[in-house]
Amino acid sequence: DVLIVGGGATGAGIALDAAHRGLTTACIERGDFASETSSRSTKLIWAGLKYMGTAVASLLTPQNYWDKGVVETVSDFWGELKMVYHCHVERHYMTTKNQHLCHWIPIAVPFNSWFMTNPAPMNFSLYACFPLVAPLVFKAYDALSGFSCPPSYIMRPSAVTEYFPQLKADALKYCAVFYEAQHNDSRTNLAIALTAAQKGAHICNYVAATELLQDEDGRVTGAVVVDRMTQESFPIRAKKVIFAGGPFTDGLRNMEVVQKQDENESSQVKSAVRGASGTHVVLPGHFVPQPQNGKVAMGLLDPSTSDGRFLFILPWLGHTLIGTTDTKCDAETLPSAPQNEVDWILEESKKYWNEDYQSEFTKPQNLLSAWRGWRPLAMDPHAAADGPVSRDHVISEHPVSQCIFIAGGKWTTWREMAQDVVDKVTKTPCDTLNVSLFGAEGYSDSLATQVQEKYPQLDMDVCEHLVSTYGGRVWEVCNIMDRQKEKGNKSLHRRLVENYPYIEAEVIYATHEYACNVEDILSRRTRLAYLNREAALEALPRVAELLQDELQWTTQVTQEQVQAAQAYVASYGGGGFLGDDHSVSTTTTKATDAKQEKETPVMIQH
Ligand SMILES: Cc1cc2nc3c(=O)[nH]c(=O)nc-3n(C[C@H](O)[C@H](O)[C@H](O)COP(=O)(O)OP(=O)(O)OC[C@H]3O[C@@H](n4cnc5c(N)ncnc54)[C@H](O)[C@@H]3O)c2cc1C
Repeated sequence: DVLIVGGGATGAGIALDAAHRGLTTACIERGDFASETSSRSTKLIWAGLKYMGTAVASLLTPQNYWDKGVVETVSDFWGELKMVYHCHVERHYMTTKNQHLCHWIPIAVPFNSWFMTNPAPMNFSLYACFPLVAPLVFKAYDALSGFSCPPSYIMRPSAVTEYFPQLKADALKYCAVFYEAQHNDSRTNLAIALTAAQKGAHICNYVAATELLQDEDGRVTGAVVVDRMTQESFPIRAKKVIFAGGPFTDGLRNMEVVQKQDENESSQVKSAVRGASGTHVVLPGHFVPQPQNGKVAMGLLDPSTSDGRFLFILPWLGHTLIGTTDTKCDAETLPSAPQNEVDWILEESKKYWNEDYQSEFTKPQNLLSAWRGWRPLAMDPHAAADGPVSRDHVISEHPVSQCIFIAGGKWTTWREMAQDVVDKVTKTPCDTLNVSLFGAEGYSDSLATQVQEKYPQLDMDVCEHLVSTYGGRVWEVCNIMDRQKEKGNKSLHRRLVENYPYIEAEVIYATHEYACNVEDILSRRTRLAYLNREAALEALPRVAELLQDELQWTTQVTQEQVQAAQAYVASYGGGGFLGDDHSVSTTTTKATDAKQEKETPVMIQH
């Protein structure tokens, strides 16, 4: 019934919803699941604080009433507010139905003065008084979710010294603390794809759409795809083809007219998706409170950076994640972060930290990794000139080819976006709010303790990591350790690299969840490359060795795998102390070309 092109959060979500509603479904992804934008987010399932800010700012701008009139200005505000409300619904869904993937995180907003000028938050002058009203704003934010999140609160400077000792408390008036949800984005993406597969969807990574199949009227009836592991090409026929290519969507849409010129379009389709790149940097964990020794993790939001943008500084997987920037430019596939954006983030971040930390931010050895992704910013090229303006994701159907594309939106709304698309394909109602994702079954708060009781050779941080990654499926990873022991092989409970909780058994387990190559393991199945480029390079030979045994690679294939993974991991920033030897030159695919090969390392045969 449906072929979905793209296996990021959006495409995998559509596959899950379509299969759950009984449609025969295929979903293809040209790289690994989440190999693009969906693994490079700020890791927040957020309820849209920034969008609420934009909505109120627009309501309070007199010029808008003059330009657009009262009705349109108020209806725009109402639309934004509805979108924020939907984000709250989705956040509630993720934190209640998918506790194995998602947890709450308190985020402190520090105020050093009662008025924030130079610049005001979001560059909106009335927001200069934000410090005076922030606690009320956050209560309104809590109210939008029906108070289903942990309540926001105020932290006095004395409490800051205790709970966030890294901050400069003497200059501080107070901190307002609110809650968002946090996740490991590539794992959530994979869990969505695996749930789709459980429901009968055919999902494939490393399969790219290269051409569309069209009937004599120009209606698309499927796609020619290439299996990038074998180079085999074959057609997939479908009643409906849905593009979920994120920032690469225009490249897919270009295939619609390259093959058959229709009357409505010139040889290039009208652009519908622009990219906006966002860089993140990763520092060691000690910059922010981590969830250790009974302490509560806490992040920080700077709402008034030097150019008025928001900046998050968050604990994530034992590290400090800082981002993001926002620069309009075409999407590329490699994660390389521009040096000027890395420098900007580090300079901006340090202003709230105490003397001991100020210089730590810019020490090269503390920059463990840096990467960037491209937000898909979408507009509807087929909308009537006087049609409603989209505020969030765009779904558009080509009048001739009848292909649907969906782009825009955010990680948080993956489920809602899928619902909106699949509603266009079938009348069967959506029920995904009642679906828990892969790993939910068998998950409980005490699972890590149970794992350690059964496997005392695993340290507690390893057990906690395994449970927060695989949920109730953790026993399948443990079974791999048991099986290896039965075969008389070395038990695979050892860490891949010191100080990180990733163990050898996970590499084997990942191949049962569609992992194909070394880079899949280093970037997305573990998050080593995202957390610490040098640690990823250190783990690389052992990962290759384990995959060689499991997938029966020849020596030559293994060598090619190692080289390809080295080149990819070297494209992450950070690890400045590694020296130039690691700076392998690589090329990158541009957003507008769907057919061009990605440089993700793929071997011809296992
Ligand atoms: C820096 C940054 C921070 C963000 N932070 C957050 C956040 O904290 N919270 C939040 O809610 N949102 C966040 N977002 C937004 C969110 O990450 C994106 O909206 C979301 O990941 C987009 O998912 P997607 O599936 O549409 O796109 P992608 O993840 O890019 O998926 C599209 C897929 O299509 C595939 N594809 C393309 N062409 C083909 C082809 N020919 N054949 C097969 N497959 C193909 C690509 O390989 C790609 O994997 C952030 C975005 C950025 C850039």
